[in-house]
Amino acid sequence: MPVEIVYPPHVTADIHAWEAGGAASAEALTAWVDIRLAAHDAALSTMLSVTGPRTLENTLRLYDVVIEQLTMAGSQAGVLNSVAADKAVRDQAQLESQRVSMAGSALSLNRAVYEALAAVDLEGASPATQHFVSRTLLSYRLAGVDKDQATRDRLQKLHEEATRLSLEFSRNIQEGAKTILATQEELNGLPPDYLGRHQPDADGQITLTTDQPDMQPVMTFASNGDLRQRMFLAYNTRAYPANRQILLDLLATRQEIATVLGFRSWADLATADQMMGSAANVRTFLAKLDEASRDGARREHELILEFVRKQDSGLEAIDITSRAYWYEQFRRSAFDFDSQSVRPYFPYATVEVGVLQTAAKLFRIEFHRSAVPSWDPAVSVFEVFDHGHRVGRFYLDMHPREGKDKWFSAAPVVTGVRGRYLPEAALICNFPGGVEGDPGLLQYNDVVTFFHEFGHLMHGILGGHTEWAGLSGFATEGDFIEVPSQMLEEFFRDEKLLQSFAKHYQTGETLPAEIIRKMKLAGAFGRADWVRSQLYYTTLSLDLHDQDPASLELDAITEKLYTSLQPWTWMEGNRMYASFGHLTGYSSNYYTYAFDKVIALDFYNQFNPLNPLGGDTGMRYRKTVLEQGGSKPGREMVREFLGRDEQFSAFSKWLNEEFDQELLAARTSDQGLR
Ligand SMILES: [Zn+2]
Repeated sequence: MPVEIVYPPHVTADIHAWEAGGAASAEALTAWVDIRLAAHDAALSTMLSVTGPRTLENTLRLYDVVIEQLTMAGSQAGVLNSVAADKAVRDQAQLESQRVSMAGSALSLNRAVYEALAAVDLEGASPATQHFVSRTLLSYRLAGVDKDQATRDRLQKLHEEATRLSLEFSRNIQEGAKTILATQEELNGLPPDYLGRHQPDADGQITLTTDQPDMQPVMTFASNGDLRQRMFLAYNTRAYPANRQILLDLLATRQEIATVLGFRSWADLATADQMMGSAANVRTFLAKLDEASRDGARREHELILEFVRKQDSGLEAIDITSRAYWYEQFRRSAFDFDSQSVRPYFPYATVEVGVLQTAAKLFRIEFHRSAVPSWDPAVSVFEVFDHGHRVGRFYLDMHPREGKDKWFSAAPVVTGVRGRYLPEAALICNFPGGVEGDPGLLQYNDVVTFFHEFGHLMHGILGGHTEWAGLSGFATEGDFIEVPSQMLEEFFRDEKLLQSFAKHYQTGETLPAEIIRKMKLAGAFGRADWVRSQLYYTTLSLDLHDQDPASLELDAITEKLYTSLQPWTWMEGNRMYASFGHLTGYSSNYYTYAFDKVIALDFYNQFNPLNPLGGDTGMRYRKTVLEQGGSKPGREMVREFLGRDEQFSAFSKWLNEEFDQELLAARTSDQGLR
């Protein structure tokens, strides 16, 4: 028999914090979170007061409501921390995130809950339900539920401390914008629309910020090396020195948690319930990545160096602040491809339509613009329909705003549960545009980023119809989460698909096949170097969490590792670790990107290269991967979709495409063969 949950009043209303006024006032946000936490408490105490045999209905169902309320409060506090217009609301949202996180860590150490879940009769339960319970019990054991009370109290304090430090670290990056001054002459090489947006003041000085739309073009196009250097240093010190000590404290706190739990290092603890399983397995994977990319990266670097020496014969080495610039120059020269040339075909609004159309065709769904309110007038809202039924909603908050988070991410808003809540998710991005009169011309890697984030969004929506909130959408192992995003990125490679939406913002002309061909050749060049930089970030994230933090020298370790993996000269004063935002969420597990890239490329290889949106592969992928959410281990989803484990071959082929003459020849023919 289902057990009745005693909800406090209004708990079923206002599932959105902003509808309850939480985006406009700190007090309203707190009141909204109070209601969710009260619902969490109510379900928890009902669950614990059950007498007699424990069943799915009288125990797991209530536990799942506990999770659902906590997740909803945490998700929306997190979103408002990133996007709220009012600083007071952002500050409060950070405190609320902390409060929710504290409730979460108390729950994860609650022995009565563990014992109740362990006692549930699973006879006849579905495989997804059994997976949910066994995974939850494992997470309890990894949290230290079997330790004595004093140790559990200590662990909870440590978790709270780690949460507080993580939030502070992220916030310092979000709000740590710096500016630099430049002269008109120093902006040589930058595109006209950039110059138009950056007019000199009365003294002839131009102010540039370290925000993505200001920073990225300088690093790629500015011919003035001194300007690039100033921008690089400003960007990489935007959260320095504040985040230096915070990071050291965070690493020490995490290591202490691992030690108390009997793990050698945080990295071993953080990988124990992942696909990877252990830090040692991550190292084995990194060795493969190193081997796969080493020769290609060396060849790329030699080509660039030779190219630069033709212009500056005395040059001995290229520094880290010139890497993007010389790659761009080399691509222009070797492939006759100027990345500026495609921007007019990628005005923001057109790209948005293109990405949405691609996903709609691939997954056989429809998107309809909606007038429902969100947290800011700049946000577009869409309802998702599957054969006439509404199956979810998403929010696109796509352009920079004062005080808004400066990165690109997908975030859950409402965790979907079959029969209770439809899934909702948001993209929080910083693409150019969004201002009257600015078409927001994107670079091609911006378009790839859009596909990436939309892949996450689809995972949250299509995976948001599971029986349990605890299995919904993003609830896979953490190191599977970048598969759906990186898989969707690959669709950008399809010429017909690109031409379906890429139109010149002034003339309406379709992006010519010839430019696409050059863009793809130029885009393939640099993959080995990209993998090397992933290898650097990955090894750094692992190393920081896989040794005694007491003796850690942040500056020395980042430089030494960089020098061992990258051919570009290190820049003195680079404090990249202080703004390496993924250290909070991914901690030691930044390897997720590279590991999931291998899986994503193998997945993409299953699609028809001549017509990737045709056939039933997209639907098969939707059913076997996206719709599963966290209903089964990532390993099983890989085997079900591929019929085997993932292999390195698709990744290696992709990595070496730039040097594959046969493939180059095939790509240049009009057949579009690959
Ligand atoms: Zn991602």
